Amino acid sequence: MHPNRLELIKSISLRNQSQLDRPIPKEKISEFFGSMTFSLTQAEKFLTKEAFAQFVALGRGEIKMDQKLAVAVADGVKAWALSLGATHFTHWFQPNTGLSAEKHDSFINTTADGKVIEKFSAGQLIQSEPDASSFPSGGMRSTFEARGYTAWDTTSPIFIVEYSGSRILCIPSVFVSYTGHTLDTKTGLIRSIGALNRSALELLREIGDTKVKNVSATLGCEQEYFLVDQEYVSQRPDLLLTGRTLLGAPSPKGQQLEDHYFRAIPSRVLAFMRDVESELYRLGVPVKTRHNEVAPSQFEMAPIFEETNRGSDHNMLSMEVLRRVAEQHNFRCLLHEKPFEGVNGSGKHCNWSLSTDAGENLLDPGSTPHENFRFIAVLACVLRAVFRGQVALRTAIATNGNDHRLGANEAPPAIISVFLGSFLTSILEKLESGGDFAKTSAEKAHIDFGLSMLPSIPKDNTDRNRTSPFAFTGNKFEFRAVGSSQTVAFPVTVLNAAVASSLDEFTRRLKQKKIGAASVDSAVLAVAKEFFEESKHIRFEGDGYSEAWRVEARRRGLFELLQTPESFEAFLKPEHHSFLTEQKIFTAEEIHAIADIRLERYTKFLEIEAQTLCMMVRQSVIPSGQAAQVRMGDAIRASDLAGTGAAKSQRWLLGEVVKLTEQCFDGVNRVLTEVKAAAETSKLQESAQRFSQKVLPAMKDLRQSCDRLETMVPDEVWSLPKYREMLFQY
Ligand code: ADP
Ligand code: MG
Repeated sequence: MHPNRLELIKSISLRNQSQLDRPIPKEKISEFFGSMTFSLTQAEKFLTKEAFAQFVALGRGEIKMDQKLAVAVADGVKAWALSLGATHFTHWFQPNTGLSAEKHDSFINTTADGKVIEKFSAGQLIQSEPDASSFPSGGMRSTFEARGYTAWDTTSPIFIVEYSGSRILCIPSVFVSYTGHTLDTKTGLIRSIGALNRSALELLREIGDTKVKNVSATLGCEQEYFLVDQEYVSQRPDLLLTGRTLLGAPSPKGQQLEDHYFRAIPSRVLAFMRDVESELYRLGVPVKTRHNEVAPSQFEMAPIFEETNRGSDHNMLSMEVLRRVAEQHNFRCLLHEKPFEGVNGSGKHCNWSLSTDAGENLLDPGSTPHENFRFIAVLACVLRAVFRGQVALRTAIATNGNDHRLGANEAPPAIISVFLGSFLTSILEKLESGGDFAKTSAEKAHIDFGLSMLPSIPKDNTDRNRTSPFAFTGNKFEFRAVGSSQTVAFPVTVLNAAVASSLDEFTRRLKQKKIGAASVDSAVLAVAKEFFEESKHIRFEGDGYSEAWRVEARRRGLFELLQTPESFEAFLKPEHHSFLTEQKIFTAEEIHAIADIRLERYTKFLEIEAQTLCMMVRQSVIPSGQAAQVRMGDAIRASDLAGTGAAKSQRWLLGEVVKLTEQCFDGVNRVLTEVKAAAETSKLQESAQRFSQKVLPAMKDLRQSCDRLETMVPDEVWSLPKYREMLFQY
């Protein structure tokens, strides 16, 4: 522990600010954007003409890799990497830990005559077998046959990361067991992208769009985060080990004035952002926006949206770069969903839409009646997908951190619903109250139901319901309930699969309805109408935080799953995940493995949090309480010397401090008893349940005693950095 908290604060505020005097960069962003990626420009330079053409087709998923191409690409990539001074390469993959993983290999090889040369083979490019036996596999791979393979994902660009004077070639990869089971978050995502493409194409063909060759989901993630000075973190074991504060009294000033939001970015933070962005630009991540968020010390950045697999990898990279660059600036970047009680937590709005190879956005109400029919069909599919996939979507974002956010009065509630905005809602209502579409001519339906008005949907007035977990924002959906620290791959996989499944169902019904229908358009409307009706309970335009909504949602039969364990319990019922197996995204075995992995992580995290809290209470909080008692006792004895007898308030205060310090002892014992009972519960689901229902509340009670004690003891005997310091002083 730092000898003196007050000294620490002083040293932070006196930190040399000279690094903030920085020259204006000479290069335009466009001149170095993507310079550290094996982009098509680089590929063209380093590959033969023939190999380049095949490489382009490979990236589009049009052809499969063969040995000859692999050799050519490996040679080209090696030449490119060496020209940039890379010394090592790694398959960069995303195991189920929520982080990315890498294992560096140097390019060197020894030759028969004892020399060393740089080598990079086709085999090394395509596949690797890291001894990755310690990654969670949910029982799909036992350690004695630990084979897990990483394999190059040819649809995401190869890149070079640079830090601490090292450049490392990174090959985005999937991670699978030798039986072909997924061990990561990327494999499912890629499968879901394929499923979505197939299903969307089939529907479009059925509607009469024969030119479209490819449909892909687009993704843009708004990343929120907190910055805290590294020095504070070094004195806060909770931030260091768990990423959130497990105790700490609120600062008198928090976010009440909302004076942080959109304010001028503090200079130390801007210097940090500039370095983050410049690194991300080099890595080809199109970062677009940056601003102060609502909570003090909270910030956000968002890229221009991209194809989903890229967008997901780029968000992963962004989180890494944020963490790393923060260290260089003596900050700690907190990606946790709820680092501080009493102020907003962090989310990651996932903006999502569907785009054709011609660049048409299928969720953009178009300018022709045909485009509007297509829009209505896709909209209907998304609504039905969210309705039927609500439990899976909730579960996909269920983590320890996000549980603190969902259902607390600041972030999307734990009930999944869709916000459409008043204009679209009125159109849907017209559709629902309308007559028999099958008999209405397309032309008439289009006029009767106001579809010709769709192009003028005022985009900006649709998205201001901040309480919705899933909102239509003009030409895309915004999945807002995703947590700030999680990899977006899993939630987006679930969303893609749910939509693919609804697209399939739409196509199936459309084929039937077309028989004898007046036109394709009237058949489309008829199916859309069915979808809107079936999924109508998922639509909600009101205040998602209100108690009334919880009551209403229950009446509608929607799920409110407040905690991770209950989410998984519901998810494991086949009716809530069968679309994932039907779409061949995961096997039933993989689904159970994912649930096991996530539940196990949930219990482990909570156990770490509980142990950390108890350690801090014993080693810092109680000693602070004791030090306060000594001082207060001295003061009371001194007042007694005055002979007036009373010192009533001081005795009361001492009594409170003694009482709270005792409560801390009791609280620690209770937490530890509950942890032991929960950890010893053999069934994983029940153990997780115990952690959420017994351990968490015990931790909350203990925290209350600590926080109250903090407000009662003299400032200088409190050893842990306080909220007001961590949030405001940097
Ligand atoms: P807001 O804060 O109003 O939601 P932002 O500009 O912060 O808006 O973020 C919007 C995000 O949505 C950006 O990342 C943007 O690229 C992304 N986006 C815009 N259009 C689409 C789309 N068609 N598909 C996916 N993402 C999109
Ligand atoms: Mg947004």
